[in-house]
Amino acid sequence: MMMDSPLTMPQMIKRAEMLFSKKEVISRTDKGISRLTYREIAERTRRLASSLEKLGVRRGDKVGTLAWNHHRHLEAYFAIPCSGAVIHTINIRLAPQQISYIINHAEDKVLLLDPDIIPILESCRDEIQGVKAFIIMTDEDTLPETTLSPVYHYEKLIADGDPDYVYPDDIPEQAPAGMCYTSATTGNPKGVVYTHRSIFLHSLALGLADSVALSERDVAMPVVPMFHVNAWGMPFAGAWFGTTQVLPGPNFTPKILIELIEQEKVTFSAGVPTIWLGVLKELETGKYDVSSLRGILCGGAPAPKEMIRRYEQKYQIPFIHGYGMTETSPIVTISKLKSYQEQLPYEERLEIRSKQGLIVPGIEMKVVSAKGEAAWDGREMGELALRGPWIASEYYQDDRSKETFKDGWLYTGDVVTVDGEGFLKIVDRTKDIIKSGGEWISSVDLENALMAHEAVFEAAVVAVPHKKWQERPVACVVLKENASVTEEELLDFLRPQFAKWWLPDKILFLNEIPKTSVGKFLKRALREEVQKVLEAHEGLAAGE
Ligand code: ADP
Repeated sequence: MMMDSPLTMPQMIKRAEMLFSKKEVISRTDKGISRLTYREIAERTRRLASSLEKLGVRRGDKVGTLAWNHHRHLEAYFAIPCSGAVIHTINIRLAPQQISYIINHAEDKVLLLDPDIIPILESCRDEIQGVKAFIIMTDEDTLPETTLSPVYHYEKLIADGDPDYVYPDDIPEQAPAGMCYTSATTGNPKGVVYTHRSIFLHSLALGLADSVALSERDVAMPVVPMFHVNAWGMPFAGAWFGTTQVLPGPNFTPKILIELIEQEKVTFSAGVPTIWLGVLKELETGKYDVSSLRGILCGGAPAPKEMIRRYEQKYQIPFIHGYGMTETSPIVTISKLKSYQEQLPYEERLEIRSKQGLIVPGIEMKVVSAKGEAAWDGREMGELALRGPWIASEYYQDDRSKETFKDGWLYTGDVVTVDGEGFLKIVDRTKDIIKSGGEWISSVDLENALMAHEAVFEAAVVAVPHKKWQERPVACVVLKENASVTEEELLDFLRPQFAKWWLPDKILFLNEIPKTSVGKFLKRALREEVQKVLEAHEGLAAGE
């Protein structure tokens, strides 16, 4: 028999301090670049934990954070769960009503917030119940003016905190450690609770060679927000492994990100495709050296194949496509070639790598089609279901759990195919797939094809209702600066690649595609916009 030692988080930050006391966490702040070693971070983490206890935070209490990616947020990432409380990261880009709903639903006792979030919280303060303290994470010596009360200065709590605080050693591994709400198609956001065990095991998965191989040697820059699925777990794993972390702070631009990569010699970064499209546009101005990058993890939405090609061919930066959800911590699949696939021609390799990839060790999947389990032939579509130690088993106190969690599986709402090698490809979300005449059209495939046209910057395809066919695809395209192309030219470009009935009924040229709070295409808003444009321009909706 082996020891039953609990998989809990205090040992992660203890290891960072013990072994990597000289390694740094570098944050971009309003005042410039801050550098703290893991020794300093670990001590500040203990001080924060003791101050939170003095404020009345007890085991199992939820402490909310409304913050960008920076070292104080990282300190909260460890101080809160390691003392037995639960860190609840809140998406700062949500509407105030959703933010107050989330705070109330989670029953947050204390909130830590960046100074620029103060106006948002002030605007919904009256709706917020139960919060006993607001802690402002400011660089300034004094607190900003606010009507929030009672307010505390983060740095004062650190200064007054106990550097010798000892984390409890009896936290059960299944105790809640973190919480994050995910947007729902309709209704309020849904809460997911991470446990010590799930964070521990998910962090290990990030270090696997065939996953993203995060290691001590990396200088890792999570661009994905720390309020969105724990920045895909990188801050936890990074501290544990002794990885140098570069945290890009508030209101960054593609230029700022590229400058951080250059200055800090970032080796690995992670974010959604819209971030990398923006960075690519900036890189193409041609003045930068990003040769330190050994890889970019791209997920959260489909990574366009042409974008991957351009990064690799023009900048020699390998792209790693991954897939996951808030409910899955998030890493579920990573797209890396098998050794014997390396011999294939570039086009075939690119085709495989632009799929979402192979399921990582520890997670199990099944693909449920109308007929049962879908064949692994790269064609038969079905809904992806998952289970594993870092997959949620329910939503936090939410009746909607039963729609998603059935027979011990999480039903993802993602339609996928699996090829003969086991590579999973997301065809669409069930709610976005276009149902035309009893067949399914993948909006993702059409988008990918459109984004391969040299004049196209971004493309999103949505379903519009159709009398005869039920739904038909309409494409929305944003052109690159100074580029021009006609609807007919784009259709000609698509024609050889798709069956006739897949071609969009219309291509609209827009100035921008509406995005979600984390930078994904906001298909719901786009559908409404398209409908309005069609009605205004033609006096008719499509298909009438
Ligand atoms: P939200 O629903 O707010 O976008 P999540 O961030 O949890 O919340 O999104 C998870 C969803 O994002 C998945 O169910 C899937 O539809 C989509 N997704 C994530 N990664 C990818 C990817 N690499 N390719 C395609 N879709 C992806």
